[in-house]
Order: sequence, then C-alpha cells, then structure tokens
Amino acid sequence: MIKEDCIFCKIANGEIPCKFVYETDDVVAFDDLNPQAPIHTLIVPKQHFETIEDVNDPELLAKLMLAVKEVAKIKGAKNGFRTVINTKEDGGQEVFHLHIHVLAGRKLKSLG
Ligand code: AMP
Ligand code: ZN
Repeated sequence: MIKEDCIFCKIANGEIPCKFVYETDDVVAFDDLNPQAPIHTLIVPKQHFETIEDVNDPELLAKLMLAVKEVAKIKGAKNGFRTVINTKEDGGQEVFHLHIHVLAGRKLKSLG
C-alpha cells in the first residue's frame, strides 16, 4: 500500500524526483536531506509501513538488511557505519514511513 500524503511514499515511488543510491523491486535508498555525517543515506520500503513494528514479512526485513550492506558498500563506508531505526515518539521518529539510517564517514560517538 502507498499512502497519499506520505513524503517517503512519494519519493520511493517516483512521484517526487530523487536520485536513488540503490533500488530493488521492494526497497530504495536515497541521501538524507539534512545529513548528520559525510555519508547519511536512508533505506525505505516502497510500500508504506509506519514503523518497523508494522512489518511482519521476514523476507522484506531481510531485504532491508541486505540493502544496508549494499548501501554501505556503494557509498564507500570503508571504516564502518552505523545503522539506526528511530521508532515512534521515544525513538525520536519524525517521518512515519519506516526508514533505516546508514551513517558513516566520521567516527560517531559511542552510545554508551
Ligand atoms: P527520523 O524520522 O527522525 O528517523 O528522521 C527522518 C529523516 O528524514 C531526517 O534525518 C530528515 O533529515 C530526513 N528527511 C526528511 N525529509 C526528507 C526528504 N524529502 N529527503 C531526504 N531526507 C528527508
Ligand atoms: Zn509512506
């Protein structure tokens, strides 16, 4: 399903022009508008899911994780990368279409 007023649905399904870093039948990746690191790419499913809680298909979950590895490779994240999925209010989620952040290109602060 695609949601009418969802910005990431529009990007992922070509309604808003955007240069994709990576694309498969189910998933696209594009650079974050407000990057927090030299490499900051978002991976989103083409179908609309508000959060990771709404995805029950293990194949889609696997495809999203494979996209993480591919994007890190394509973007040249040689020294490693961080993967973040902000979920709902306490997770600091701002866009309610599931997305995975891939951050790299500088040493990110430890979470601990
Ligand atoms: P969050 O929901 O907090 O995980 O983060 C949403 C992310 O989407 C932020 O890092 C924004 O900079 C990014 N963002 C919002 N709108 C766009 C857009 N049109 N294109 C690319 N990135 C976007
Ligand atoms: Zn959407």
